[in-house]
Amino acid sequence: MVKRDIKYYFAYFFIAVAIILITASFSIWFVGRIKDKSETLSPTFSNNISCSTFVIDPGHGGEDGGAIADDGTTEKELNLLLAKDLSLLLELNGDKAVMTRETDTLLYDKYGDLDNYKGKKKIYDLKNRVRITNEQQSPVYIGIHMNKFPDARYSGLQVYYSKNNETSKLLAENVQKNTHAYIQNTNKRAIKRADSSIYILDSLDCPAILIECGFMSNSNELVLLKSTEYRRDLATVIFISAINTAGAD
Ligand SMILES: [Zn+2]
Repeated sequence: MVKRDIKYYFAYFFIAVAIILITASFSIWFVGRIKDKSETLSPTFSNNISCSTFVIDPGHGGEDGGAIADDGTTEKELNLLLAKDLSLLLELNGDKAVMTRETDTLLYDKYGDLDNYKGKKKIYDLKNRVRITNEQQSPVYIGIHMNKFPDARYSGLQVYYSKNNETSKLLAENVQKNTHAYIQNTNKRAIKRADSSIYILDSLDCPAILIECGFMSNSNELVLLKSTEYRRDLATVIFISAINTAGAD
């Protein structure tokens, strides 16, 4: 009787030790995962600029439709839809994403402190997009646009980058490279350094890129740009590129 009890105690002891070991191993693994995740959530760019906020800027809006396709589709509406997809992905990943506009409007009167808009709406609109970006803590600016060209043969995404911050080029390269790798295998376009004609990229000092996501003048690409699935693919490529840039060495 006594012998049998001792045997049971030994069994209980070994089971208890096993449970403790399994629990401890699981805890270490789980904490490790949380730690990995938290590192992803607070990305640091290669030049040690930490990115707190992605500013997603859908170009144009309101009375400024941007490029207009032959079927009447406006650039401003496609920009907004894609920008919303991109912001959602960033937020789902735990990153802070701020959209410069979430409705069909220009932003020249955003702060109500400028007047005499006549003939100045466009420049005030651009100035306010820069201002919204600079109000954020450690911003990374991503402008979303669509292209148009008289020759309908041209197609493909192309990224412009600001010369004012070295991370801009890295981010642009990642978006261009991943677009080629995942959704446009025949796209031979290279990234372009923006000159002063792109006011926002010329004005910002933070990492900043402007993505011409595709040509509305190319009928095949227009069909793609108008499809929800393709825009989500584009948003995913931009999102992954932004996050990968954050983790690059
Ligand atoms: Zn545009």
